[in-house]
Amino acid sequence: MTTIHTTLHKVHQRIHSACMAAGRDPHSVTLLAVSKTQDALALREAFAAGQIAFGENYIQEALEKMAALADLPLEWHCIGPLQSNKTRPVAEHFDWVHTIDRLKVAQRLSEQRPAHLPPLQVCIQVNIDGGETKAGIAPHDTLALAQAITALPRLSLRGIMTLPEPAITFEAQCAIHESASVLFQQIKTALGEQATAFNTLSMGMTGDLEAAIQSGSTMVRVGTAIFGGRPTKPPSLPSLPS
Ligand SMILES: *Cc1c(COP(=O)(O)O)cnc(C)c1O
Repeated sequence: MTTIHTTLHKVHQRIHSACMAAGRDPHSVTLLAVSKTQDALALREAFAAGQIAFGENYIQEALEKMAALADLPLEWHCIGPLQSNKTRPVAEHFDWVHTIDRLKVAQRLSEQRPAHLPPLQVCIQVNIDGGETKAGIAPHDTLALAQAITALPRLSLRGIMTLPEPAITFEAQCAIHESASVLFQQIKTALGEQATAFNTLSMGMTGDLEAAIQSGSTMVRVGTAIFGGRPTKPPSLPSLPS
């Protein structure tokens, strides 16, 4: 039987091998377990195997899991599209947001972040390959948004996030990821002392994590390789056994 313990171990091995191939320190890449559509018990199993950080796409689904797992010290990352009228629960309950692509959303998150919590850790989602249906800000607009976000008191700007269209070959994957890596470095340099915590390139998933690591990713977001396949639509959450 394949357990989450086993699949997580395999993903860590993939990350380790990719770091070795790229001449990078394996500790320079963190694993975000993407748990959308998975029930709370699957996350509990992943936590028992050492996983702390989880990525969720659907706010309501995430809030239900947070409540069911409130006894565990988990770190919650919002990686789904964010509308400016739906920011409050995200500001109040998540630790990270990867999908900021306009100032209005960032401003609302900053205003709504409760004072007793640390600043919300945020990445700007960049539409790195110009995909038409994709969320994300255009690369040439990213620095201006980054500078505006650094002025917001309750946010800490951590980096950029990309979600390119799947490319078939390793070389094609690397070409896209390289352009994200170049942009990341340019923004980091331009921000300088304005954003000392700007150290996160959130890039790479089950199908392309090796290419992403080769190109400098510091956080891979992996779902399928850990939890198995997903239904294409989010399920209505089953009630958990008591
Ligand atoms: C679903 C999702 C992932 C994980 O994808 P897998 O191919 O299952 O690893 C990563 N990032 C985002 C933004 C996602 O929506």
